Amino acid sequence: MAESWKLLDYLRKYDYENVFYCNDNHTGLKAVIAIHDTTLGPAAGGCRMWTYESEWEAVEDALRLARGMTYKYAAAGLDLGGGKAVVVGDPKTQKSEALFRSLGRFIERLQGVYWTGEDVGTTLRDMEYMYRETNFVITLPRSLGGAGPIGGATALGVIQGIKAAVKRLTDSDKLDGLVVGVQGLGAVGWELVKGLRDEGTKLKVCDIDPEKVAAVQKEFEVEVVPPATVYSEEMDVFSPCALGGVINADTVPRLKCKVVAGSANNQLRTEQDGYNLEKRGVVYVPDYVLNAGGTIYDTDRLFHGVHNHERALEKVLRIRETVERVFRLSEEQGVPSFVAADRFAEERIASVAKVKGIATPKSLRR
Ligand code: NAD
Repeated sequence: MAESWKLLDYLRKYDYENVFYCNDNHTGLKAVIAIHDTTLGPAAGGCRMWTYESEWEAVEDALRLARGMTYKYAAAGLDLGGGKAVVVGDPKTQKSEALFRSLGRFIERLQGVYWTGEDVGTTLRDMEYMYRETNFVITLPRSLGGAGPIGGATALGVIQGIKAAVKRLTDSDKLDGLVVGVQGLGAVGWELVKGLRDEGTKLKVCDIDPEKVAAVQKEFEVEVVPPATVYSEEMDVFSPCALGGVINADTVPRLKCKVVAGSANNQLRTEQDGYNLEKRGVVYVPDYVLNAGGTIYDTDRLFHGVHNHERALEKVLRIRETVERVFRLSEEQGVPSFVAADRFAEERIASVAKVKGIATPKSLRR
């Protein structure tokens, strides 16, 4: 009971709209769908499957992630609100077709108030199962009309942010000759290495998976550095593309870079780490602004009926303009960039909310 009161306090404090609990004893589904804010449009956000210690922990994670999506879409200039689905269970051993079809049915009940997608612990196969029960699935293979893999679009967005940060420091956005350290050579890291190679940068890379390192070494000219010491390597830009929380009390003093700009979510372990980075004079490109390329690319179909590669990439390129606006706001208001990013997102939601007060035939049909 105490936990449920805590939950209600949390919902009110951060303005959540809904939390749905999905229980299906037949398939074993225990899932939470959280909807944070739909001012800008229907809630969207991936579906995570994780071995949560308790269902309350899953509720907490769904809430936290849904709110993050509100900010991400707002900053990306998309007409989407923040939502998230979380499935309790081990993605390695507890998945089944029935489990995801069951979740698909719960999502169908929401009739488009929430759109789902891939996240940690879920795959395109799981999306396909849900899609048999509901159309409200964003991430789909190309064969089903979706955008297909999105790592390349995320990497393209990261490069735009790196250019904006470099321009802020040097007055030139040329990346050739600069040293960029890429941590993590997965779906985004690999594409980032490819894109940066084309920009003429020198690359230092690391991954804990020796196979990924060997594959990158075979394909590109890179210097491999040990994962444990990547933070203290001499480099101009450090690009975390593996895990969250890598900018922390232990790593900030070791950094030798001038810019931190990568795709990983929640890079700052605490707010204080963001302030410490700022104090050290390192330009930080806020993660959720920078890594929105994949979702901008992926959600193109929602606004136009079909996915269009060129149009979607054009929208991804605008990440640069957004990062520049966040930097300007940070300077004008004398706050670190991660604080400016939140303000930028909140301002967009508040200003669009005002526009929505004017009824149009289109808004009345919705
Ligand atoms: P991925 O799982 O494909 O790749 C992550 C890579 O990081 C793996 O190769 C893994 O071995 C490596 N890794 C893990 N721990 C490491 C460590 N300590 N040091 C070095 N390497 C390590 O993931 P991804 O899709 O490439 O995403 C990378 C990050 O970007 C994640 O934090 C993800 O949440 C975020 N992100 C991804 C996308 C996308 O389009 N895929 C979009 C937005 C945000």
